[in-house]
Amino acid sequence: MDDGFSALPPFTASATGADRIQPVLLEAAERLRDNYPYFHPLYAGQMLKPPHPVARAAYALATWVNPNNHALDGGRASSAMEKEAVAGIAAMFGWAEFLGHLTGGGTMANLEALWVAGRLAPGKVTVASASAHYTHGRISGVLQLPFESIPVTMDGRMDMGALEQRAERGDIGCVVATLGTTGTGSVDPLPQILRLRERFGFRVHVDAAYGGYFTLADNLAPETRAAFDCAGQADSIVIDPHKHGLQPYGCGCVLFRDPAVGALYKHDSPYTYFSSKDLHLGEISLECSRPGAAAVALWATQRLLPLVRDGEFAADLAQSRAAALEFVERLRGDSRWMVPLMPELDIVVWAHRAETAAAVSELSQKIFDRAAARNLHLALIRLPVRYFPQLLPDDGSGTVLCLRSVLMKPEHLQWIHQIFDLLSTIVGECLTPD
Ligand SMILES: *Cc1c(COP(=O)(O)O)cnc(C)c1O
Repeated sequence: MDDGFSALPPFTASATGADRIQPVLLEAAERLRDNYPYFHPLYAGQMLKPPHPVARAAYALATWVNPNNHALDGGRASSAMEKEAVAGIAAMFGWAEFLGHLTGGGTMANLEALWVAGRLAPGKVTVASASAHYTHGRISGVLQLPFESIPVTMDGRMDMGALEQRAERGDIGCVVATLGTTGTGSVDPLPQILRLRERFGFRVHVDAAYGGYFTLADNLAPETRAAFDCAGQADSIVIDPHKHGLQPYGCGCVLFRDPAVGALYKHDSPYTYFSSKDLHLGEISLECSRPGAAAVALWATQRLLPLVRDGEFAADLAQSRAAALEFVERLRGDSRWMVPLMPELDIVVWAHRAETAAAVSELSQKIFDRAAARNLHLALIRLPVRYFPQLLPDDGSGTVLCLRSVLMKPEHLQWIHQIFDLLSTIVGECLTPD
């Protein structure tokens, strides 16, 4: 990279010496020990996984130049790489002509999609399922768009009867279909939502921030597959490379099927001087300065691991899903455990059997705490008590606290039996009076 700038007269950058940097870095490293071991297969809790080494290296390399993907003047190479990387993502959904760019994350990406929907249908209501990410309600508040929730069925998917009934009032502007809810990985029935679009004319926005890459996996259930297969018919799609795309945080992506929505972003900035007629990503993004390094990291990752169905990247995703299926099989084959809903992606929710909702909740908390003490890191989620028809709903909360694991790392598949056995030991400890 340096050789590309060798025509410049040499100079020495003013910077603090390594002798002073080292102790600070050592201190930072020590501070960073105060984290769960997200990189380890025994971390089977929230949506966290390490970025790919090529992404980390490419990101660090790019920071030596520190390009800004706002205007082309700020980062020519990294802007070109962003366009190529985003085109690779769009191609997963069959889009060759589209408008899209990277964002700081799924929240900003969804904000842009809902903003466009709001501009195209002013005053109309945005709806998402009750299990959609809470960000949609909050974003709608920021954008001052009316927002409503649609109930979900027992499989965690948007209730189509309820959506149809709501749509008949004629004021829905945009339906958010979540392909992979954050809590349970449930996939909304997109084919049916698209059929309702024909009747009611609303926009369909697909929030695939978590689940988007699973379109490449070869081991989805037929209904899940059907939803991903028609994602390309949506009006906009959000996907987070910093979730399943092996990227460091700070990398979301929004895609629009109709490039004409770019006109909505129009601005006339006296500060940013656009030096060419090529597309400036800053002209189609609500965020101004954006890290070119994020684009370089994503581009490098996709160069190494192309987003194709028969590639290494897809095989790793399929392994995460296989881990979830394997785990559920162990849980369902053991009368101690209850699995309220089948995983559609790689997120498993389960709970230990007990008589009452309150007893199940208490056990979940106990198992969660004990597991952490044994280096097995799980997550917790509250589900409505109706997911457990066999329980007495006694604590008045109407919910049951369950255990939850996001099995995002391909290594999880090899570790599932060890995790299951460790869990059995932990349960034994929890059920033995101290
Ligand atoms: C994570 C997530 C978001 C929010 O994205 P951030 O990258 O955390 O800002 C939105 N929707 C879904 C479905 C998600 O999983």
